[in-house]
Amino acid sequence: MQSAQLHELKKLRSCLFDAVREIVDGKEPALLPERLNPYMAAGPVVRQAAKDEDGRIKVVLLPLRADWEQVMAEIAASFASALAEKEESRFRICDNPDCLWVYYDDTRNRSKRYCDDKACGNLMKVRRFRARKKAEQ
Ligand SMILES: [Zn+2]
Repeated sequence: MQSAQLHELKKLRSCLFDAVREIVDGKEPALLPERLNPYMAAGPVVRQAAKDEDGRIKVVLLPLRADWEQVMAEIAASFASALAEKEESRFRICDNPDCLWVYYDDTRNRSKRYCDDKACGNLMKVRRFRARKKAEQ
């Protein structure tokens, strides 16, 4: 990967993260379609009919190229689809300050605080435990 492509990927990541941060903070994400559309426009697709596993006809979008612009278009389209189909109020940023992964909270009581309870959840539990022990000494 060239540094220009890496730079563009990091720019897209920042764009998406900023949008999720605004959503999590209860704000309307600024210029959201306008920020995503240039990425999606750079990754053209062609429509094709295909059968799903039940034998039903479905329409699929096939990428026309296999390059980083196409990858960024797929990422931007995936995010736009999540905004269109999911509940924005369930978008989260992991509470582990060293992680900050974005995830979708699909728990019934909307209480998920970490991207992964076994990884970040346990890590933060251990950190809180050690901080308490240190404070007690
Ligand atoms: Zn995490």
